[in-house]
Amino acid sequence: MKVLVVNAGSSSLKYQFINLTTCHCLCSGLVERIGQESGHLTHKRLPDTPHRVVKKEEHQFADHAEAMKRVSALLTDSEYGVIQDISEIYAIGHRVLHGGEEITHPVIVDEHVKNVIRRCFPLGPLHNPANLTGIEVSEKMFPGIPNVAVFDTEFGMSMPPSSYMYPLPYELYEQYGIRRYGFHGTSHNYVASRTAEFLGKSRDELNAVILHLGNGASASAVRNGSCLDTTMGLTPLEGLMMGTRCGTIDPAIVPFLMQKTGMSAAEIDTIMNRKSGLLGICGINDMRDVKDAVKKGEPRAVLALDMFVHRIKKTLGAYMAVLGRTDAVVFTAGIGENDDSMRSRVCANMDFFGIKLDEEANAGRGDGPRRISTPDSRVSVLVIPTNEELSIAMETYRVVHEH
Ligand code: ADP
Repeated sequence: MKVLVVNAGSSSLKYQFINLTTCHCLCSGLVERIGQESGHLTHKRLPDTPHRVVKKEEHQFADHAEAMKRVSALLTDSEYGVIQDISEIYAIGHRVLHGGEEITHPVIVDEHVKNVIRRCFPLGPLHNPANLTGIEVSEKMFPGIPNVAVFDTEFGMSMPPSSYMYPLPYELYEQYGIRRYGFHGTSHNYVASRTAEFLGKSRDELNAVILHLGNGASASAVRNGSCLDTTMGLTPLEGLMMGTRCGTIDPAIVPFLMQKTGMSAAEIDTIMNRKSGLLGICGINDMRDVKDAVKKGEPRAVLALDMFVHRIKKTLGAYMAVLGRTDAVVFTAGIGENDDSMRSRVCANMDFFGIKLDEEANAGRGDGPRRISTPDSRVSVLVIPTNEELSIAMETYRVVHEH
């Protein structure tokens, strides 16, 4: 059972081709700078196939259709491919940023679904148009193969109104859909299921705080297996401090800046999304580089790291307060899975919360899910690797199979 997972951005196309029988990725790739003069493609056939092969191409891709045509050819290529014929693709799963309140579960794409994605353009102006293009191109390129839309907002849709409403005039919610949606849903959802499995619980018994710490970062409070609260809001800008995004700030800063500097809303949006976070404070957005700068004693890098930790820690405390019983605190994504000193700082001095980290286990390496708390820690602290593409592939298969 093989599923193609597509993540189409405004000028990029990411893909993974996943064998669901083994849960292995057979090949993956990225086409960048679509529509620009010098496009670039990287295609990797992955290790569980006889030989790992990497193909790189510099080529002008006029549009997403041309990029997808090349991907389709590579999938069946005698040297770089992994299948004989396109008909071996069971279904195509598309990552879609925003489904608004209308679509809350993965669905087979039809005209109605495409219209909902279109209607949500204002809520996800950078992602939704590109996601729709990815779907339309796949429909043309692979006729007869079902396309499934998996929404990044799905997990957050189980939040109760007390979590998802903003304390703004109620009409703004009714007229414009201004509420909290939450993102990174495929990751939080996948990690919640793996956490329940790891603890030997059924998913609907799980209470946990999940910390997805990557370039984009978000936390979620999971109660009885569902999302009780999550840090991202109307857009993926709210919540924790991130690589280039500010996360939660006083909203009055926006009109203040507009009045002081004459900047437009769009310019301030760019600052908050692309020039803030770790990058805004110390000029570096990649956590590994920030840590190198900290080692050299650069004060701004030290400050950026301190702020990053502080904001995670206070969110963790808040989420444990609303959850009450907490079975696990879970670290995932690039920083969460790899950065033991980050985990150690986030969990420091939390004995009062029932959190005791086993520093030796925390410092150890490992690929799979693992426990890093002491045996007498009331709350289990876990590292659970996320796999958003596998999660999308599994959901895609389920939806098509049940159809
Ligand atoms: P995204 O998918 O949001 O782009 P990832 O989940 O891949 O992000 O995480 C990327 C982040 O993880 C980067 O900031 C990177 O520096 C960080 N990271 C990866 N490995 C390590 C490590 N060993 N120590 C600290 N940070 C790491």
